[in-house]
Amino acid sequence: MTSAAEQITQACPECGAGIEGDRRFTLWCASCEWNIDPAEPEPERGRVDRARRALARGYGEKLLGEVAQGDALAARRDTSAVLAYALALAVHAVTAVL
Ligand SMILES: [Zn+2]
Repeated sequence: MTSAAEQITQACPECGAGIEGDRRFTLWCASCEWNIDPAEPEPERGRVDRARRALARGYGEKLLGEVAQGDALAARRDTSAVLAYALALAVHAVTAVL
């Protein structure tokens, strides 16, 4: 069996730990997180973008906290979930009517 993977090993430029990976993909260091996000951060454009990023960061940190606690993740029954169900029902109702 042949493999398309092109395995390489190199030393991390930050901490010197060994990094193994596929040459076709971005390498990053699991020890110090070097190159974990190689893209330059996008500049914030206006208040809407700042608000969107703040919301996304807040939700991300909340989710990380929940996952880090190790509790089983379960579907929520909050306002967002009810609105999502209502929107889904409306979409399906339009489909059924058509
Ligand atoms: Zn490193």
